Amino acid sequence: MFIGAHMTINPLSSVPSRTLKIGGNTFQIFSQSPRMWRMNFNEKEVEKFREEMSKTGIDPTKVMIHASYLVNLASPKEEIWEKSKNRLKWELEVAHRMGLKYVNVHPGSRVGSSEDEAMERVARAISEVLKDSPQDVKLLLEIVSPKGGNIGYNFFQLKKMADMSGCEVEFTYDTCHGFDGGYDICSKDGMERLLEEIDKTVGMNKIAMCHLNDSKFPINVHKDRHERIGKGYIGREGFSNFFSYKVVHSIPMVLETPGGDEEHAEDIAVVKEIWSSLGISK
Ligand code: MN
Ligand code: MN
Ligand code: ZN
Repeated sequence: MFIGAHMTINPLSSVPSRTLKIGGNTFQIFSQSPRMWRMNFNEKEVEKFREEMSKTGIDPTKVMIHASYLVNLASPKEEIWEKSKNRLKWELEVAHRMGLKYVNVHPGSRVGSSEDEAMERVARAISEVLKDSPQDVKLLLEIVSPKGGNIGYNFFQLKKMADMSGCEVEFTYDTCHGFDGGYDICSKDGMERLLEEIDKTVGMNKIAMCHLNDSKFPINVHKDRHERIGKGYIGREGFSNFFSYKVVHSIPMVLETPGGDEEHAEDIAVVKEIWSSLGISK
């Protein structure tokens, strides 16, 4: 089983060893500040990072970069759409130079346009970006919460965007976003509905990653507020139901829960407790 957390990069080269310290064996990072368009790259630090990756033995094919929050591949504003494509291209290039396999992105927000128009723009952006990006890095479309004009809040939409792009993209399931959009992973029925929808659309083998987050709000309220594992409306029992399905065991789990390394270590311990109670060997 693979588990880890979204790690701060202060500095980048500390991430692999801090991951082991909190009980993880994988992680997610931002390549730099996710709220600034400016792009920079510290070659020395990346070199050190790669050394630390081999020292710790963390498998880089289970690690992802989360693209900047500024990226909106669905934006109807030409300038933002162009900037978004450039930034995503750069994130893929950085992942390549870091030796990491995945870049995860939120498809985008329709900002007043229709969902169909938004999906069409996302698809076009993906095909333009991937056309001249490193082939060893995979792009992941993350399921989002159905709030604020977000597109990609179910697997029908994600599949449609992927198909229209004509590219081989894969997907990230986020347990908080899904819950926020009505996928009840706490119940048997809810889990079966989710797995059936995935089977009918993108296929389980295309779910490359999972963001493991509890939810501060009840199901289907469209708020997208992450909570620590076991402390929200999904709760230990909900995650216990989720992990009772073997098909999710091969997906790396990455926390995007509140707090820093200390809190993440506690949350990872909670997840491991759930696994042991289900007889799942790590
Ligand atoms: Mn995300
Ligand atoms: Mn997420
Ligand atoms: Zn979220």
